[in-house]
Order: sequence, then structure tokens, then C-alpha cells
Amino acid sequence: METPTIEEIISQLDDLNQEKADLIRKAYVFAEHAHQNQKRFSGEPYIVHPLHVAKTLAELQADPDTVIAGLLHDTMEDADVSAEEIRQEFGENIAFLVEGVSKLGALKYHGMKKHAESLRKVFVAMATDIRVVIIKLADRLHNIRTLQYVPKRKRQRIALETLEIYAPLANRLGMGKLKGLLEDAAFPYVYPKEYEQVMQLRKTRGQESIKRLEKVYRKLKVRMAEEGINEVKVEYRIKYLYSLYQKLLRYDMDIDKIFDISALRVIVPEMSDCYRVLGLIHSTWRPVPGRLKDYIANPKPNGYQSIHTSIFIGDRYIAEIQIRSQEMHHEAEYGVASHIIYDESGKPQNGGELEKKLAWISDLINWQKEVSHSGHFLQALKSDFIQNRIFVFTPKGDVVELPVGATPIDFAYAIHSDIGHRAVAARVNNKFVGLSHKLVNNDLVEIETKKSGHPSYRWLSFVKTQTAKRHIRAYLQQEDKTGRKVEL
Ligand code: MN
Repeated sequence: METPTIEEIISQLDDLNQEKADLIRKAYVFAEHAHQNQKRFSGEPYIVHPLHVAKTLAELQADPDTVIAGLLHDTMEDADVSAEEIRQEFGENIAFLVEGVSKLGALKYHGMKKHAESLRKVFVAMATDIRVVIIKLADRLHNIRTLQYVPKRKRQRIALETLEIYAPLANRLGMGKLKGLLEDAAFPYVYPKEYEQVMQLRKTRGQESIKRLEKVYRKLKVRMAEEGINEVKVEYRIKYLYSLYQKLLRYDMDIDKIFDISALRVIVPEMSDCYRVLGLIHSTWRPVPGRLKDYIANPKPNGYQSIHTSIFIGDRYIAEIQIRSQEMHHEAEYGVASHIIYDESGKPQNGGELEKKLAWISDLINWQKEVSHSGHFLQALKSDFIQNRIFVFTPKGDVVELPVGATPIDFAYAIHSDIGHRAVAARVNNKFVGLSHKLVNNDLVEIETKKSGHPSYRWLSFVKTQTAKRHIRAYLQQEDKTGRKVEL
């Protein structure tokens, strides 16, 4: 991995004024001096690390203050620089960010309780200033990419924590690229055998499939030109390894069932162009039934938008094509990092543009629709992301996200419909509670099931999630039809 120079980092940032560019250079000199006697586990000078972190932040199109805080992020904790000194040299905002990152410290994954504590810290930091968490994610990316130099006994823990906390967090913030990079860097340390296997599969299958996609594209390009549709960019996207592995797990590890190891990605100027291109594709090739997904009309919960379709291309082959506008592409890759607008003093603020993005943010965290028009972004993040959603844990330490007011029954259905259907009792933090008990953040929830257990109409009066309601209704309807007695 080549270390970026400070000028390379500066050149990544659009619309940078001279003053800020100079401040970035100053931060670099300051950090290099602060870390001058320190080395990374790799033996390289320590400054290599903040440079990589700043580069990642610049690539995410984060604002200049975030990039500067990225350069300085370890100076307080590792090099004994005081907050006061950073405040004097770089101002209130940057000092605030550096302090925030330092306070977050290392998120350690030591069992359930600590895990909950770490998560809580992250969400508190996120509520104060989302940029603190974005810096932390960039920090983690470089750390996980240089994990081979870290003492062996620490590797597994750091890699696992990356898969279980950092990558999902990046995903939640709509930062698809960062999520993919974090997962793929951690994957070989957590599941070495599976990593090798998936790597091989992707190598052979991926290359063949790209050759076929190139042929599809040549034909599509002609058709688009005839219709006067310009493309902004075309990519052959290869699935991230860990994401491919997750999908293989869902398909009995059968690679023949997976059609999107690689996909043709067509990026067009406007949303309306997406539908025109879709029309062209479906009138040129036969679409595979049931494979059209319109994530533009129905975005994924994290805000992801695109149209996906699969077509038959002869010789039994199927090709996946993804169509999206330039704006959707930008959001899918960088997410929230590039969306926060700042005022003169560097404070995050709401603006007309961001207001528009609130709809996207609201999908990201599964808000109710009406919240999307409310005011300030950070305020909304605080009140809705944290207060209207709770995070509870399974006995194994897995996190389950639920709306406020959710009950053990919601929890049970979130795990699996059978657990929901058979639930007869619940323990929260080792105490028995009623099935309509309201869960709160960080609860540890255990469900007891019995074969004879089954849903009742009463459950519908207290469950909060659509998932639970849907399953309960489906069950009760079935029961009515078969004439079995329904408990009231
Ligand atoms: Mn660091």
C-alpha cells in the first residue's frame, strides 16, 4: 500500500480554498512532528497512518475540517498533544473532532456487555457530530489493512469487531464502498478457509462473467446511442468478497445460483434516463422473471437506490445489469460522508440540499415517513436515530434493531418467524417479563419457545413492528381457515 503524499490528499478535495489547503498542510507538519519518534507495528514512521486516514476521508468527499481532524486524530491519545494546543492551532471545531475521536478510543469487543457499551459510545458520538464516527471508520480501515503487522493474538478480535461493529455502521450510514472495503480486509482473519474458497470462486467465475458483460454492453451502447441516451459511466462491478460469501451462505454455497458475481453498472445523468435504459434493455433481451428490482421507487433501508434487472443472454447465461443516476451512484458509494453541509465556522448545518437528502437519511434508519420533513439533520439524527430506534442483544451478543416500544414478541419475530410463533415467555436481562413488556436500549433478550405455543389476537394489540404484525395475521388467518380454535 503506497503512502499518499499530503498534496495528493489535497488534490482529492473539490472546491478547496487556499486557506484551507494551507491548514491541511499545517496539520500534516504538526502531526508529523507530534509522532516523530513513533513507529507503526509495520516499522514505518507513524505519520503513514494519519496520511492514509486523511486520504480515505478525502476520497469520501468529507469536508476539509474532517480531513484535518483525520491527520490529527492520534496526536492527543498517542502523542500527548493537549486539546488546548489543537484548539489554538486549528480552532474550536477541529479540536472538537479530534477530542471526539480520542474519547471514542479503541472500541473493544469483549463480550456482550462491553459490546453494548461500545455501541452506546458510538451512538452518543454520532449524535454529537457524525464526523467523529466517519473519522473512526477511516481509522479502522487503515488499521485493518495493516493487520498482518499486529501481534497475532489481537488480529482475530480486531477483525471480528470490524465485521460486527464498524462495517454495519458504515452500511447504516449508506457508505457502501467503505463497508465493502472494511469487510473484505477483515474477512481473511475471521474466516481464513472460507475466504480462500470464495476468492477462488470469484476469480474464475467473475472473469468469465465480465467477458459476457462486455458483449452485452457493446450492444446496449449502440441501442442507447440510437435513442439519444448518454451514459455518464459504465462499470463492471465485481461483488465484494464478504458480500459474496454472505450470499453463498444463503444459497447453500451453490455458486450457480448466484447471478450477480459481476454486474454491468450503467450510470446515466437523470433518474428518468434510468427507466428509459431499463425499457431498452427489456426490449432487447428477455428479462428473467422476478428479477427486476426497482430500488429507485423503493429504496433499500439504508437509502440505496438503483434498478437491478437480469436478462437471458444465450447459452443459458444470465447477466445482471444495474442502472442508476449519477447522484444515486455518489450516494451509494459515499453515503452520509459527503452530504453534511457546513457553515462558515465549520459547524454542520441544515440547508435546502440537505433537506432534500433527509428523505434518503430517513430510509437509512427506517424512520417513519413523516419525520423526513422535520428540521435539523443532527437533531433528527439524535432524536430519531437514537431515540426512536433501540438496539437490543441476543444471548449470543448479536444486535437486533427495533423501534421504540418494541416488545419481546417483536424481538422474537425479528429473529425468526418460528421463534415468534412459538414464543411463550421472555427474559430481559435475566428476569422474566411479560410478552408485552417494552424493551429499552441495550437489553439482553431471551425468548422461551414451546412446540404448543402460538400467536394470539391479543399480540396484535401491543406489537410494534410490521414484521411481527404480518406474521401474526398470516398465522391467525390460517388458523381461522383450518377451523382451529383461536385464543382471544
Ligand atoms: Mn488511528
